[in-house]
Amino acid sequence: MLEAQNLEMKYKNKLAVDNVNLYIEKGESVGLLGPNGAGKSTTISMISTLLPPTKGTVKYNGKDIFDKPESIRPFLGVVPQEIALYDELSALENLTFFGKIHGLRGQVLKDKIQKVLELVELTDRKKDAVKNYSGGMKRRINLAVALLHDPEILIMDEPTVGIDPQSRNYILDMVKKLNKEKKLTILYTSHYMEEVEKLCDRIYIMDHGQIVASGTNEELKSILTNEETIEVSVNVHDDHFTECLMNNQSINQITKEENGYRLIVSKSEELLVKLFEYAKSSNIVITGIQIKKPTLEDVFLHLTGKKLRD
Ligand code: ADP
Ligand code: MG
Repeated sequence: MLEAQNLEMKYKNKLAVDNVNLYIEKGESVGLLGPNGAGKSTTISMISTLLPPTKGTVKYNGKDIFDKPESIRPFLGVVPQEIALYDELSALENLTFFGKIHGLRGQVLKDKIQKVLELVELTDRKKDAVKNYSGGMKRRINLAVALLHDPEILIMDEPTVGIDPQSRNYILDMVKKLNKEKKLTILYTSHYMEEVEKLCDRIYIMDHGQIVASGTNEELKSILTNEETIEVSVNVHDDHFTECLMNNQSINQITKEENGYRLIVSKSEELLVKLFEYAKSSNIVITGIQIKKPTLEDVFLHLTGKKLRD
């Protein structure tokens, strides 16, 4: 349905997006996961016809979207990273305004507004000024605006940033429903791996403007089949112990956590024994050891050497 080939965006000397290739099939829910500054918003802007790339193409059902962007826009529902609503106006007035921009009028517009308000469950608050809404409610209206003209694909740029966990779950559940029940195609951008893990059939991981890996959740985790994650709890963090960990060739990543260390290690029989030896020679006590299945966060750490939230 949507395909980006060799997409590039160069700002002066900076490559914000560097040779990105991605596709989305009709009905799929696709995630674009990456830390702040990875190039997600820039990619989304190009895919949504808002920013012409410095190189590469984007095709929608085989047609270049920059040939006649205005003919493609009706099919796209774009939820920008920044909330784009008029604060002084009510939800109803905002939806009416944006509906008219899409060329909707009269009863058709009224019906569509009613439908999206029901969908985001804000019908009873429709006459309140947006400035009196919570962050989560604003996000929901932002989403309602994008759905007003019945797009074929919903493109969301970090739609849950800055809201409470309950509103966040609400939005996630809603997007999941739109995809699974209403068969709406989804492109979902986030720096929260739990979100894309929960929501997306397929995931692209982005860092420094490039796609560093892609696949289903399971495929991405299988990158780590020869590795496992070990959480070591200790009574106290210790420099000598940390140094021993850093010098061990089987330990590929070390992250200091509140009560100990999170290690990504090459599978190794003798490593556990070694950990206890290190603790003894450092005069500290290992209070717990857990071997975990790798998470997407671990895959990210493995590919880029840093945590998603850095
Ligand atoms: P993300 O959405 O993943 O946080 P962005 O696409 O916003 O990443 O940004 C990618 C990179 O491009 C960042 O280094 C950012 O500073 C830079 N960038 C984004 N927009 C502009 C712009 N208009 N001019 C110059 N640099 C930009
Ligand atoms: Mg962004």
